[in-house]
Amino acid sequence: MSGNAESTAYRSALEVIGAVEPRVANAIRAELADQRESLKLIASENYASPATLLAMGNWFSDKYAEGTVGRRFYAGCQNVDTVEALAAEHARELFGAPYAYVQPHSGIDANLVAFWAVLADRIESPTLKRAQARHVNDLTEADWFALRRELGNQRMLGMSLDAGGHLTHGFRPNISGKMFDQRSYGTDPETGLIDYDRVATAAREFKPLILLGGYSAYPRKVNFRILREIADSVGATFMVDMAHFAGLVAGKVFTGDFDPVPHAHIVTSTTHKSLRGPRGGLVLCGTELAEQVDRGCPMVLGGPLPHVMAAKAVALAEARRPDFVDYAGRIVANAQALADGLQRRGAKLVTGGTDNHLALIDVTGYGLTGRQAEQALLDSGIVTNRNAIPQDPNGAWYTSGIRVGTPALTTRGFGTAELDATAELIHTVLSRTSPGTNADGTASKAKYVLDPGVADRVGKQASDLLTGFPLYPAIDLG
Ligand code: PLP
Repeated sequence: MSGNAESTAYRSALEVIGAVEPRVANAIRAELADQRESLKLIASENYASPATLLAMGNWFSDKYAEGTVGRRFYAGCQNVDTVEALAAEHARELFGAPYAYVQPHSGIDANLVAFWAVLADRIESPTLKRAQARHVNDLTEADWFALRRELGNQRMLGMSLDAGGHLTHGFRPNISGKMFDQRSYGTDPETGLIDYDRVATAAREFKPLILLGGYSAYPRKVNFRILREIADSVGATFMVDMAHFAGLVAGKVFTGDFDPVPHAHIVTSTTHKSLRGPRGGLVLCGTELAEQVDRGCPMVLGGPLPHVMAAKAVALAEARRPDFVDYAGRIVANAQALADGLQRRGAKLVTGGTDNHLALIDVTGYGLTGRQAEQALLDSGIVTNRNAIPQDPNGAWYTSGIRVGTPALTTRGFGTAELDATAELIHTVLSRTSPGTNADGTASKAKYVLDPGVADRVGKQASDLLTGFPLYPAIDLG
């Protein structure tokens, strides 16, 4: 692929957009400039390829395609069928899964599809059976009342939020926390690691319908074989949300006990994080759950987004190439270089390191809240996000942690030397930041004071680091 073709594609696209609403074209240009200039360490972000991005900007966006491949509620879906089938085939082959559903619009949606599929599969509800066999209009009000009662107050056991779990794993701000009676398993207070014996005890006591594995901010491998054994011992369905680490599964960094696909009954993912695809979600499962999963739209999803499924097909094809294995390996090597570099300079990390794509800095070691640290880093050109740490003394808003991840910088070409240099920049900023005070003299959890000159100096060093690794080097917008 010539860089010329990519430049031409984007220049032409911006010219066409700019002729209608120049402010949008300008914002798109500005976004590329911002992304090129920032040292992006947000663990859930990446840079999709031009081919993936371009696959989304076309007339597939105009097509309605409710239903599944070959069985649509709209006419004229033959080309949507082609891209949906391709995306599903690539997903199945890439992850070694019997079935793939590629319609979810996001990770949250993928989880909702999976929750519904498990409920429908597991709950002995005569009314539900009738509701699925017959047209919904045939059910009476009394039937619907019975259905709600039969679906019951089901239980889910997932990782606690402050140990790295996700809101969609049964927490109150998300509908999963309202649908399910949720209990969490945390991590060992000494080591910060999942204690599988405690998970087993919690499962025995709570007897969940769903045991949920997966995380947003846990810096270690998870042994999915053990979690499956625990699920089996209490008759739970074992679900894994691999949104964060799907790229490491695809790239064969997580294999054997650490690959969720052979162990879980159902696996969900996003496609845009370490997997480096378009924003979206997917569900993988065995053939037993496939029929329920296929009900995702219209059960919990709006019409599928064919343009995004086209982009998923492109990105998943990319992830099946041998160089993706190299990419995934470099993500982890880079995260370890960053973690080692931070610790060598005195930073405290949750679990003392990482074996995936992210690390969690406990910034109480610098006397800061996560909020103060996040802002001071941002002032210095380093983009991260604050994150709760286990038993966080500052709660979920201010937090005591900074989450850093390497998928994006690895896509840019950064290696371990640059991640070590990045650790130096982060440590410099955090050790030169102090907590600020409120107007009444009390300690603030948000205000901070950065030593004079640090933001400019570090910002310049960050920018120098990035210069050697241009983002989308082939794209010149002129
Ligand atoms: N699941 C996990 C583990 C996540 O980390 C996230 C996103 O942060 C999601 C689900 C939700 O993904 P989305 O933002 O695409 O809905």
